[in-house]
Amino acid sequence: MNKSTASIAFAAIEDEKLFRVVAENIFASVNDGIIITDGDGVIVYTNTSFTEITGYEQAEAIGRKPKMLRSEMHDGAFYDNLWSCLLINGHWHGDIWNRRKCGEAYLQHMKIHSVQSVAEEPKYYVAAFRDLTEIRRKDSHIKKLTQFDPLTALPNRFLLMDRLEQAIAIAARDHKKVGLLFIDLDRFKAINEGLGHTVGDEILQIIGQRIRRSVRAMDTVARSGGDEFMVVAGGLACAEDCAIVADTIAAALTADITVKGSPLCVGASIGIAVYPDDGQDAQDLMKSADAALYMAKSAGRGTFRFFQRNQGKPIDHLRLEMDLRAAVKNNELELFYQPQISLATGYLHGFEALLRWQHPSLGTISPTDFIPMAEEIGLIREIGLWVLRQVCRHIADWRGQGYAMVPIAINVAAAQLHDERFLQALEAETRARDIPASFLHVELTESMLMQNPDYAAETLRRMQDTGVKVAVDDFGTGYSSLAYLRTLPIDVLKIDRSFISSIECEESTAKIVRMIIGLAKALGMTVIAEGVENQEQAGFLRSAGCHVAQGYLYARPLPVMEIERNWLAAARSDRVGGHVAAPAPVTVTEGAGPSAEGLSWQQTTCTVSA
Ligand code: C2E
Ligand code: MG
Ligand code: MG
Repeated sequence: MNKSTASIAFAAIEDEKLFRVVAENIFASVNDGIIITDGDGVIVYTNTSFTEITGYEQAEAIGRKPKMLRSEMHDGAFYDNLWSCLLINGHWHGDIWNRRKCGEAYLQHMKIHSVQSVAEEPKYYVAAFRDLTEIRRKDSHIKKLTQFDPLTALPNRFLLMDRLEQAIAIAARDHKKVGLLFIDLDRFKAINEGLGHTVGDEILQIIGQRIRRSVRAMDTVARSGGDEFMVVAGGLACAEDCAIVADTIAAALTADITVKGSPLCVGASIGIAVYPDDGQDAQDLMKSADAALYMAKSAGRGTFRFFQRNQGKPIDHLRLEMDLRAAVKNNELELFYQPQISLATGYLHGFEALLRWQHPSLGTISPTDFIPMAEEIGLIREIGLWVLRQVCRHIADWRGQGYAMVPIAINVAAAQLHDERFLQALEAETRARDIPASFLHVELTESMLMQNPDYAAETLRRMQDTGVKVAVDDFGTGYSSLAYLRTLPIDVLKIDRSFISSIECEESTAKIVRMIIGLAKALGMTVIAEGVENQEQAGFLRSAGCHVAQGYLYARPLPVMEIERNWLAAARSDRVGGHVAAPAPVTVTEGAGPSAEGLSWQQTTCTVSA
């Protein structure tokens, strides 16, 4: 109702008493607080909402001045302006901080009108006010929901873009640089799947706080979704400053997090793009940081990389993902086999099947790059089934061609542990091709097992029920202990390459390796050393009682043709009779044949425990 229609309506109420009743009813029913003062500013009336908002009863207010509500948050000039406005214009409105009876300051929106007859001094002042606290709270809640990540309370991608644009504008003015860091946690997907989403969420919160504490207060740290964080570091003098930021973050993230009493290490890969060098605006910079992150992941994770324009166009991840899907369909994936040698006899013990991807334009892509991608895009189960079928086909073929039977190990990803189809396929494939299941070994990493040991134990038992042997890969890199592994049904333990590479130079590592071998043997496991590259390492392992060695000393992973020609054919001739000469020495490059150096070559129909 506007002012003129209101006057007409009130004019219709001729009875003064009735009019007063109507007015009192209106005052009592509105949500706004109402104060009426006389011409000297002394309160003569307050309504119920006044009491609800301020905490003062009507009787406590009448006879006093509205000053009683002052919060002391405005200076004298503010009130001078209010009064002069009121006297000159007859009204004032604006936001004003007052104080409730309980002492709490609150913001209200207030409208004040003077009531006077023409040419008279004001007789009354009527003030109506609305408490803005709740509205502000809702506003800020809505702002939080749209601009912040609810899990970590860090800014989300939208707010980050806004801050990035601001930082770029300031840097352009001040001739400074802005660093944009993309941080992607390594192994997080496996942790989340293995330990459950509640633990995953807690880890993300801890990581968020660690990143926040690693940068300056003026920098923005955002969570852009999943296990990805971003940092905008503005006002930098040079690009190298970003390396210091990345180093500090990486150091903070590699410190262990204790999960259910066990230390867990979550490393990160970091991609860095710098304004103006790698992008003129926020969008460009985001693309460059994404490409740099991809480079960091390709470099082996746990590291950071600056965007490199001269490395060609940023790799289009979406494109690569599509290519990987096509590769599975178009048979661009290939299995190589790496021989494993019995240290006691020097005979062939078995092979490990390792995936290779020949990309039509990018060349060979390492499994350390495309396996995590396959896990992320949900393709790993399909690839895992393909590997299983392929290996079973090769075993059956080789057997059909009269080659010796040796165990073949396949690598299994975390998601396959939860894949019913895979467990069923293990049995179905071996049965369909009439292969003794004990010739198939399944390699799982210890961190996969430790993520949910109870569940893993059940799955491993089901695998063993089919006759398949279970191997723990990369032992020593996770956070399990042999004592814990004792509770799991494990046949083979593979000591990680990082231990083998330093046995010669570190006495402590040599002691650990001896201890692992001793304990594993005591638990009835076969021990395989990974990454054996020289005779010294092989000699040490042999004397320490290690059963089997695998590494470049003997052979790199080889394509099927080479395996058949240089390894299996030799084995067959041996079976036919007499000794087989060691294959001719060759330069050890991937795909090349075995070096004679480490090997006294004879065929063996090896049993599982060496
Ligand atoms: P892994 O299972 O631990 O395989 C051993 C890796 O060490 C292989 O790398 C092998 O080429 C490399 N290696 C072997 N001997 C030596 C040595 O003497 N020195 C050095 N420096 N390296 C050696 P590759 O083939 O690049 O595979 C890397 C990882 O990718 C594998 O580690 C495995 O975790 C994963 N992977 C490979 N194939 C598959 C697969 O079919 N499925 C799954 N889920 N993962 C796979
Ligand atoms: Mg392996
Ligand atoms: Mg390994």
